[in-house]
Amino acid sequence: MILVFIEHSNRRIDDTSLEALTVGRQLADKMNVPLHGALVGSAADEIVARAGEFGVTVLYAAELAQPDTYAPAAYAVCLVELLDNSKPQAVIAAGTERGNEIMAHVAARANLPLAANCTDVQPGADLIVTRLRWGGSLLEEAKLTGTSKLLTIAPNSVPLATVEPTRVTVQSFAPQLSERDYRARVTARVETAAGKVSLASARVVVGGGRGVGSAEGFRELEELADLLGGAVGGSRVVTGLGWRPHHDQIGQTGTRIAPELYISCGISGAIQHMVGAKAAKHILAINTDADAPIMSKADYVVIGDLHQVVPAIIAEIKARRG
Ligand SMILES: Cc1cc2nc3c(=O)[nH]c(=O)nc-3n(C[C@H](O)[C@H](O)[C@H](O)COP(=O)(O)OP(=O)(O)OC[C@H]3O[C@@H](n4cnc5c(N)ncnc54)[C@H](O)[C@@H]3O)c2cc1C
Repeated sequence: MILVFIEHSNRRIDDTSLEALTVGRQLADKMNVPLHGALVGSAADEIVARAGEFGVTVLYAAELAQPDTYAPAAYAVCLVELLDNSKPQAVIAAGTERGNEIMAHVAARANLPLAANCTDVQPGADLIVTRLRWGGSLLEEAKLTGTSKLLTIAPNSVPLATVEPTRVTVQSFAPQLSERDYRARVTARVETAAGKVSLASARVVVGGGRGVGSAEGFRELEELADLLGGAVGGSRVVTGLGWRPHHDQIGQTGTRIAPELYISCGISGAIQHMVGAKAAKHILAINTDADAPIMSKADYVVIGDLHQVVPAIIAEIKARRG
C-alpha cells in the first residue's frame, strides 16, 4: 500500500497534496498496490470525493483533541501509528513547509530515511527518486531504501492527473498523544495587514538589501511598492539586522517569490537570495556596483545610489499618473 499524507483547509485538499496523490497513484499502479490517504481532522464530504478522484480507496482521519492546532510532532505520531499498523511501501507528503517538517519527524521517530523535494519517483525494491537540491539549482538522482520509503514531492513539479473515481472508505482513529507532542505548536496566526499583498503572491516585489542602510531607509521602498500594488521583501542581511521582520526575507531560507517584476535595491545577488527570486519574470536591479552578481542576472539594471534612483522612480510614476 502507498500512503499519502493530505494537507487540507476549508474542506479542500491543497493543490500540493493533490500532486502528492498523483505521484502516489502512479506509483501504486506501477507496484500494483492500493493507494490510501491520511489526514488530520474530519474527512469532509468534499475531501473524500476529491480523494476518490485521485484513486484513494481508504482514507484515515486522525481525530485529535486539538484538531486546529498544528503541531508537527503530534501530526507525525498519527503517521507513525499508521506506518506501524499497515507497513506501507511508501509514505508520501507534499514538499511544503509542513509536509517536510512532519515527514522529518516521522523519519526520526521511525528511524527511516527521507527523500525530500522529489520531482520523480520510479518503483523497485529501492525507489529511484529525482529530487531538487541546492534550492532547485541541482537535480539529484538517488536510491531510497528502507522498509517503508518516506518522500515529499516538490510543489509545482507534477501535473495533476485524476482517474475514474474510486469508492473511498473513511477510517477514523484516535492516536495516543502526550503533552510532549504539543511542545512545538502554532499558537497564533498573523495575517498580512488588510489591503497588503503577500510576498509570495505579489505581482510586483520591491526588495531591499544592506545597501538600503537602515530600517527607516525602507520607507521609500514601501512607497514604491504601494504605488505599484506590490509587496516589500529583503535579503537575509536586512532581516538579520532587524530592519525587516523575518517573514519578509526572500531566498533559500525565506520566501520564494514569483512576481512579474522584482525590483531589487542594494542587494548583491548571492546565490541563496537568487534561489528565492528565480521565478521572477523580470528583474530590475538598482546597485552602485556594476559588478555585483545580481547585475548579470537582471533584465534591467540601474547603476546608482538607490536613495536617488528609487525617489526618482516614485516621482516619475506620480507625475505620469497626474
Ligand atoms: C545557508 C545560508 C542561507 C542563506 N539564505 C539566504 C536567504 O534566504 N536570503 C538571502 O537574501 N540571503 C541568504 N543568505 C545570505 C547570502 O549569502 C548573502 O549574504 C545575503 O543575501 C547578502 O545580502 P545583501 O545582498 O543585502 O548584502 P551584501 O551582499 O552586503 O550586498 C549589498 C549590496 O548593496 C549595494 N549597495 C550598497 N549601497 C548601495 C546604495 N546606496 N545603492 C545601491 N546599492 C548599494 C552593494 O554594492 C552590494 O552589492 C544565506 C546564506 C547562507 C550561508
